[in-house]
Amino acid sequence: HAVVLLDEVQKHYKMGSEVVRALNGVSLTFERGSFWAIMGPSGSGKSTMLNLLGCLDRPTAGRYLLEGTDVNTLDDDRLSELRLRHLGFIFQSFNLIPQLTVSGNIELPLYYLGWTEHDSAARAAELAELVGLGERLGHRPMELSGGQQQRVAVARALANDPAVLLADEPTGNLDSKTGDQIMDMLKDLNKQGKTVLMVTHEPEVAQHAPNRLYMRDGVIDRIERD
Ligand code: ADP
Ligand code: ADP
Repeated sequence: HAVVLLDEVQKHYKMGSEVVRALNGVSLTFERGSFWAIMGPSGSGKSTMLNLLGCLDRPTAGRYLLEGTDVNTLDDDRLSELRLRHLGFIFQSFNLIPQLTVSGNIELPLYYLGWTEHDSAARAAELAELVGLGERLGHRPMELSGGQQQRVAVARALANDPAVLLADEPTGNLDSKTGDQIMDMLKDLNKQGKTVLMVTHEPEVAQHAPNRLYMRDGVIDRIERD
């Protein structure tokens, strides 16, 4: 079944007396195990869509079902719980905590999920190994290259074994060779069953995704599938 379902979703922002319809009736399903690029010009609603998908915000109207749960039926605490359980986030600027080690950064979501220190340290070591940073567990982000930092962020996003990875311009701060390595990693994770939803404005990056959704003025302009 669909891991994500949007049904006539609207998101409005009030700007003084004006109402901006950042999303203006978006209906779609993302199937489990699919890989999507979300594209579109600046201001078309990509960030708004990602914030909604990420449960950082709620629809003004319409329904968003994540793993069958309607986010509008949840209070803030339950919504955070849903986010922690089902979603992993990857950002353009990595968003690692500079004071924490690689291990500490990967462990962070597990801390919020209430894992023991012992279990989360073991999980972090396993994930660091998976992303090729098994020897760097004690390093701080500043001591790593951009590509290595993004691999830590991928490991962090995987910590809770989420159904869905949400990636916001994941290669935007990387040179093209390093960016390709991150895309290869996302493609591998997708082959292993993760649903990957990636916002990008770079067509070359989007071509890595077999499904591409183009936004325009808060609506779906078109969909391409390989
Ligand atoms: P936002 O804050 O809207 O997510 P970003 O910070 O991700 O934008 O943008 C990163 C860089 O990409 C910036 O230099 C921005 O000007 C550029 N950019 C963002 N969207 C587009 C677009 N649709 N077309 C071209 N360049 C873009
Ligand atoms: P994109 O990510 O494709 O650049 P956004 O989702 O950021 O598009 O923006 C969609 C529309 O909503 C734009 O017109 C933008 O100005 C508006 N918008 C986004 N966030 C806010 C906000 N917090 N308050 C008011 N308007 C917003």
